[in-house]
Amino acid sequence: MSATRSLALLAELVAHRTVTRESNLALIDHVRALLAAHGIESTLVFDESGTKANLFASTGPHDVPGVVLSGHTDVVPVEGQAWTVPPFALTHSEGRLYGRGSADMKGFIACAVHALIEASTLRLKRPLQLALSYDEEIGCVGVRRLLDVLHAAPVRPFLCIVGEPTLMRLATGHKGKTALHATCHGREGHSAQAPLTVNALHLGCDLVSEVRQLQASISQQGARDAAYDVPYTTLHVGKLSGGVALNIVPNRCDIDFEIRNIAQDDPAALVDLLQTAAERLTAQAQTVVPEARIEVVEVNSYPGLDTSVTEDAVAFVQSFHPQDAVMKLAFGTEGGLFTARLGVPVVVCGPGSITQAHKPDEYVALDQLAQCDAFLAKLLAQLQA
Ligand SMILES: [Zn+2]
Repeated sequence: MSATRSLALLAELVAHRTVTRESNLALIDHVRALLAAHGIESTLVFDESGTKANLFASTGPHDVPGVVLSGHTDVVPVEGQAWTVPPFALTHSEGRLYGRGSADMKGFIACAVHALIEASTLRLKRPLQLALSYDEEIGCVGVRRLLDVLHAAPVRPFLCIVGEPTLMRLATGHKGKTALHATCHGREGHSAQAPLTVNALHLGCDLVSEVRQLQASISQQGARDAAYDVPYTTLHVGKLSGGVALNIVPNRCDIDFEIRNIAQDDPAALVDLLQTAAERLTAQAQTVVPEARIEVVEVNSYPGLDTSVTEDAVAFVQSFHPQDAVMKLAFGTEGGLFTARLGVPVVVCGPGSITQAHKPDEYVALDQLAQCDAFLAKLLAQLQA
């Protein structure tokens, strides 16, 4: 099957600068108009500001569970990256399509929109549906409002396919993620008298040490899931900042850190362990300076995905897209939220590679788009009456 139609739409989608901090409405309107031209109505679910929206569309019967194709419209920024092609225009070269979002994940959206249009011309026994979300890249934020709407609907999908880039391999799981922020408060002073006060950076480093000790104990004795490259729950400090000058004892240190948990581990229990450590460090610091403290807050979290390979929905996908082995992914998706909120089984399968995502000169291979179009054509055949 030729990927020509999907390629043309991908070029239009990449031209919309839907970096997460910006509005996605131009892209949403574009897709809505395209679907409307084929008689497919869309429901938009806006954010508080009205500058971003999710889109949900359905074609086929209304009273039976369908298959929902899910993807995010936002892309990560390009600042500070050495692109050799324009990031917001599609460049076709030697079988590769370059542009921000080509792999993650506008290539899938282009194929999915055309599958819906194709489906609208067929007699279906089950509906084909499209769910496009905003603010995925900052923690699957936008899709939650859409899930509220789908939760209230009388009929739920029987399968959700999230089109994150897997090179069209079938994945049934990914880790959950909890993003945390710690604010460490000390008291400023002359560095020559440092031991008389509390250095917030030192306090922060003590907390980092606790994070690393917890990681060490998990990696040595914790639960394991061999389907992952890193087969256990991970903890990581991504950003630590504080201090003004060498001769001033810093009074504040900010730390961004995260937990990415496998299904066997409860992230809330791990957060509790770190909160307890923060309280212990606070108590020690307050013997020197009463206002010294560490405050840990949860910034954002999404659940992991762990779809059983014995689910009927997985067998359904395998029936037309057979795989020797299903895999689990290192990165997260909105799939865990679909299962947690709606009880819908989720598989992840989409064109392109995550290795190309979030980088300069991001690309999707034209052949991957063609494979995705062929996959969706086989899905449509299954949905036909
Ligand atoms: Zn993505």
